[in-house]
Amino acid sequence: MKYLKIMLFAGALGLMFSSCKESAVKEEPFKYLADEFADIKVIRYRIPGWDSLSFQQKEYIYHLSEAAKSGRDIFWDQNFRHGLRVRKVLENIFENYKGEQESEDWKNFVIYAKRVFFSNGIHHHYAEEKFIPACSQEYFSKLLTESGQEGESAEILPLLYDPAVYPHRKNITGEGDLLLGSAVNFYDGVSKAEAEAFYAKMIDAKDTTPVSYGLNSKLVKRDGKIFEEVYKVGGLYGPAIEKIISHLEAASAVAENDTQRGYIAKLIEYYKSGDLNMWDEYNIAWVKDTESQVDFINGFIEDYNDPMGMKASWESVVNYKDLAATKRADAISGSAQWFEDNSPVDPRFKKKEVKGVSAKVITAAMLGGDCYPSTPIGINLPNANWIRKNHGSKSVTIENITYAYDQSSLKSPFGQEFTFSAELLERAKTYGPHAGNIHTDLHEVLGHGSGQLLPGVADEALKNYSSPIEESRADLFALYYIMDDKMLELGLLPHADAAKAEYDLQIRNGLMTQLTRIQPGKTVEQAHMRGRAMVSHWVYEKGKPENVISRVTKDGKTYFVVNDYPKLRRLYGQLLAEVQRITSEGDYEAAKALIETYGVQVDQELHKEVLERYAKLNLAPYAGFVNPVLTPVVADGRIVDVKIDLTEGYVEQMLRYGRDYAFLK
Ligand code: ZN
Repeated sequence: MKYLKIMLFAGALGLMFSSCKESAVKEEPFKYLADEFADIKVIRYRIPGWDSLSFQQKEYIYHLSEAAKSGRDIFWDQNFRHGLRVRKVLENIFENYKGEQESEDWKNFVIYAKRVFFSNGIHHHYAEEKFIPACSQEYFSKLLTESGQEGESAEILPLLYDPAVYPHRKNITGEGDLLLGSAVNFYDGVSKAEAEAFYAKMIDAKDTTPVSYGLNSKLVKRDGKIFEEVYKVGGLYGPAIEKIISHLEAASAVAENDTQRGYIAKLIEYYKSGDLNMWDEYNIAWVKDTESQVDFINGFIEDYNDPMGMKASWESVVNYKDLAATKRADAISGSAQWFEDNSPVDPRFKKKEVKGVSAKVITAAMLGGDCYPSTPIGINLPNANWIRKNHGSKSVTIENITYAYDQSSLKSPFGQEFTFSAELLERAKTYGPHAGNIHTDLHEVLGHGSGQLLPGVADEALKNYSSPIEESRADLFALYYIMDDKMLELGLLPHADAAKAEYDLQIRNGLMTQLTRIQPGKTVEQAHMRGRAMVSHWVYEKGKPENVISRVTKDGKTYFVVNDYPKLRRLYGQLLAEVQRITSEGDYEAAKALIETYGVQVDQELHKEVLERYAKLNLAPYAGFVNPVLTPVVADGRIVDVKIDLTEGYVEQMLRYGRDYAFLK
C-alpha cells in the first residue's frame, strides 16, 4: 500500500504544478546509458545550444551530418577486407531471422553482433585482436540458414570462428610481417619492406612542404607490380565518395560564409581528383577558419590504424562552438608563445614563433567513420607538420561527449577501488573532472602543436613508434604545465590541488588501471596506452632513488601513491625534453628503446590482481556513443527547421545506418 500512496502523491504534485508553467514540465532524467554489453557501454550525448542556432546553421549541420554518415562503409572496408560482408550477414540475421529469441545462443549472437558493430569489424576496436562469438558455430550456421544466407556459411564461419584466420587487425606483436600479418585493408599482398621501398622512392627528403604520401590509397601488389589504388571518384570507394560530395554540395549552399564555401569546394575537388596537393590546400584554408560557429572534419585523416602510420582511416565529426567554454581554451591558446618559450625543451627544438594555435570547445552534433561509435574527446588538426608550422593548427575539446561520459559514470565504484585513501578520493572527486578537461585542452591545444622537427627530418622518421611517441609528447606537455603557477594565474584551475588530482590519476592509470583494458597475458598495444604506460613507468623508475612515487600494498591490494609532486613534475619535464629531442631529430632507435622498455611490457602479477579487482566491480572499460537523429522539417519543398531526437537505440541505429548508408559492396 505504501508504494501506491507515493504514486498517488506524485500524481497530486503533478496536478499542483500544472498551473505553473515553469515547473509543470518535470523533465524525465535523461537516460545517458543506451546499451551495455561485453566490455562496452554505449552512451547518448545531448547537444546543448541546438535551439540557439539559426535555421540556416541547423540545415548546414544537417547536410554535413549526412556527409558524415555517408562514408561509413569506407571505414568498414578499410578496417578489414571482409568487413562489409560480415556486417551484411549480421544485419540480414536481425532483419530476416524469425526463430526464437530467448536462448543463451541468441543472446550471445546479439552480443557478438553488437561488438562487431561497435568495432566496425571483427577485431577489437582498441586491443586490435579478433574476438570470437560465444554462441556455437552450429548455432550460427542455423541462423544463416534461417535468414536465407546458407550460401555464406563456407566462407563466413572461418572468418568469425577460426582464431588463426586474420587474428590481428594490426599485427604489432613483433612476430611475422607487419603488413602481411595485419587484417587492415590498406595493403594487399605487400610486405613491410616492399611498402617502405615503394614510398622511399616517392619521398623527397628535401621537400619542405611534402604531401602526406600514401594517405588516401591502398597499396596493392598484382603480377609482381606494386601500385596505389587511390580513394576518389572513379577510383577506390568512388560510390561512397560521390554520396559524400553530394551532401557537401548541399551543405555549401547553406554555409555560414564564403570561407566555408571556399574550403568545401577544395575538399570536393580533392575527393574528385584524389590529389594530395589539393588535400593540403583544403587543410590550409580550413585551419584559418576560426571564426565560423559551425565546423566539421571529413576525410581520410588519422593514420593510427595503419601499422606503417601512413594511410588514413575515413572519419567525420560535425560540431559547433560551445561559446562559453571556448573562453577557457582561448586563455590557453592566448599564451601559446609563453608556454613554448618556457618549456623544458632544448631551444633548437622549439618553435620560434607559434602560429595560430586556435582552440575551442565544441559540441559534437554527428560522429562518423572512425569517430563512431568510439570517439575522441579532443581533436587537433591538420596532421601535416609543415602545415602546422607554417599555418597553425586547430584544436578542439568535445565537451558534450566528455560530459555525457562523466554523467553516465557518476556512481562508478572505480575510483574508490583504486585510490589509496579517502582523502585522495575526495580530492579526485572535487577536482578530477575539471582538471581532466584542462589536461585535454593542454594536450590538444598546445602539446601536439608544440616543438619543431630539425630540417631534413621526415614526418615518418619514427615509423611504427611515431604514434605512441607523439601522444606521449602531447601528454607530457600537458602534465608539465598543469602543475605550473600559470594555470592559477590564467584562472584555469581553481586550486593547486587540482593539478595534484590529475597527477594521481595519470600515475594510477599508466602504471595500473589501464591494464583493465588488456587481456590476460597480452602486452600493451594501442598507441595512446603505450604512450601513457611509457611515461608513467619512466617517471616511476627514475623517481625511485628519491621515492617520488611509492608502490604500496594495503589489505592485499596494490596502490601507487605520489609522494613528491614538484619532483614528479621535474621528471615529466625531463622526459618531455627527451621525447621532443627524439621527435625533432627523428631518432628511431631511441623511440624504439623508450617505448619497448617502458611502454609495452606488462607486470603479469599486477595485471592479474588488477583484472580481478576490476572484474568484481562489473564495469565496462570502453565507451562509445549513439548519434542524435536529425530530421529536417520540410515546407514547400524547403527545409525550414531541423528537429533532434535523442531516443534511438543502439542496435536500431546500427541497422538503420546499415540500410540507409550502404554505398559500397
Ligand atoms: Zn593526442
